[in-house]
Amino acid sequence: TEIDVQNLRSPICCILGHVDSGKTTLLDQIRGTDVQGGEAGGITQQIGATYFPADNIKERTKELRADAKLKVPGLLVIDTPGHQSFTNLRSRGSGLCDIAVLVVDIMHGLEPQTIESLNLLKMRNTEFIIALNKVDRLYGWKVFPNAPIQQSLKQQSDNVQSEFKWRLTDIITQFKEQGLNTELYYKNKEMGETYSIVPTSAVTGEGIPDLLLLLLKWAQKTMVEKLTFKDELQSTVLEVKVIEGLGTTIDVVLVNGVLRVGDQIVVCGLEGPIVTVVRALLTPHPMKELRVKGKYMKHKEIKAAQFFKVAAPGLKHAIAGTALYVVENLDDLEDVKEVVMEDMKSIMCRVDKSGEGVHVQASTLGSLEALLELLKSPEVDIPVSGISIGPIHTKDIKKASVMVERKNEYATILGFDVKPTPEAQELADKLGVRIFTSDIIYHLFDQFKAFIDVVKE
Ligand code: GDP
Ligand code: MG
Repeated sequence: TEIDVQNLRSPICCILGHVDSGKTTLLDQIRGTDVQGGEAGGITQQIGATYFPADNIKERTKELRADAKLKVPGLLVIDTPGHQSFTNLRSRGSGLCDIAVLVVDIMHGLEPQTIESLNLLKMRNTEFIIALNKVDRLYGWKVFPNAPIQQSLKQQSDNVQSEFKWRLTDIITQFKEQGLNTELYYKNKEMGETYSIVPTSAVTGEGIPDLLLLLLKWAQKTMVEKLTFKDELQSTVLEVKVIEGLGTTIDVVLVNGVLRVGDQIVVCGLEGPIVTVVRALLTPHPMKELRVKGKYMKHKEIKAAQFFKVAAPGLKHAIAGTALYVVENLDDLEDVKEVVMEDMKSIMCRVDKSGEGVHVQASTLGSLEALLELLKSPEVDIPVSGISIGPIHTKDIKKASVMVERKNEYATILGFDVKPTPEAQELADKLGVRIFTSDIIYHLFDQFKAFIDVVKE
C-alpha cells in the first residue's frame, strides 16, 4: 500500500533499562544537553521527553547514507525514572509507546530491572531494540566520536574485538534464558522474530546514528497503520507538577489528534473527574526537554505526536498515568466524566473488601496497577486495604494506621517510586506505621517479606 507520507505522526519511543545502564546519558548524547550531570546523584528525577525533528536525525545519520528513507516527521523520545510507571501508562487502553529502547550495560549484562522491563514489554506487546551500551568501557577501546558502530568496531584492536565478542555472546545467551532471540542488528535477517542489538556508547556517541536510524526505519516499516495520524484525540498525562506562576500543570503526551487553547478537557482526579479549560499549551525550545530550565514557547494548538505542558485551573488532584479527554460536544460531558474515571475504578476493585491489608502507593496509576498485580500473584499474595497515588502524605499515614490495632504487620505502606513528606514520616514514626519505599518493585516485596519473617519469629 502507498504510504501517505504527509499524514504519519512521529513514533513515540521510550527508554528502559536497569538503573545506571545509561538511559539518561544516551538521551543527553542524542540531544546535546547535560541532564544527567544536572540530576541529583545522576538519578532521573522526573520523566522527561524530547522531540527530535526528522531533519536533525537525517543530519546525525548521514554517514549511514539513509537520508532519503525517513517518512515520519520526527521521533518523540521519553526518558523515565520508574520504568514500570512508563510502560504501564495508558492512552485509551493501549500502551503509550510505539517502540522502546532497552538499554543494557555491556559490562553487566542483564540485571533485575532489565528483566522487569523485558517482561513489561512482552506484556504490552511493544516492539523494542536493545542498546548494548558502554562499549567504550571495553579495555583498550579507541574512540571514534559519533561514528557508526561497524566503522568503529572495525578499527579496534584484536583484544577489544575479542572482548566485545565474548561479552556479546554471553548477553545473547542471557536473553535466550529469558526466552528471547537476539542478534547484532546488522546481522539480523529476521527482524520481528529476532530482536536487534545495537552496540552504543552514550559517552562517545558511537553507535548512536545506528540506533536512531534503526528506530525510525523499524517503526515506519512495521507500524504504518499505527503511525497514521488520526483526528480522534488520544492523550496521556505523564506528570502533575506545580510551576511557579502557572499553578498545578500537567505534562501530557499527545499520541493522536490536536489539542487547542480553549478546549474543554476532562482528566481523572483523585477526588473525581476534573473538568477544566486549557489556558496555555507550552513546550520547551526544540531539542530541549521539559526538565531543562528555560522559557517556554506558547502555542495556540499542538498536533500529535508531541509532549508538552498544559496549564489549566483546577488540576491539583490530577493523576499521572491516566488519559486526557476533550469534550467535543457538551452533551457528551457526563459520558466523558464516566470514561475518565474508569481507569481508577478498575484499580479500586483490587482493594481487599475485608479491609485488612497493607497500604500501597505509587507515582502513577499505571505503576500502581503493576504493583497491585504483582501483590496479588500467588507467589507474593499480600492483601491490600488502601491505595493512593503520588507522594506519601499524612492522610495516607492516618489511613494505614488503622491497621496498628487490627493487624499490626499490615500497618505498612509499600511505596513504589514515591517518598513520604517529612511531616508524613514524622507522623508514621509516632503512630507506628512502617514505610517501605523502592524504585524496584520486587525490592518492596523483599523488604516486606523480611519484615514478616521477623514478626513470625
Ligand atoms: P540511567 O540510570 O540509566 O539513566 O544511567 P545514567 O545515564 O544516569 O548513567 C549512569 C552512569 O553511567 C553515569 O555515570 C554515566 O556517565 C555512565 N555512562 C552512561 N553511559 C555510558 C557509556 O556509554 N560509557 C561510559 N563509559 N559511561 C556511561
Ligand atoms: Mg536516568
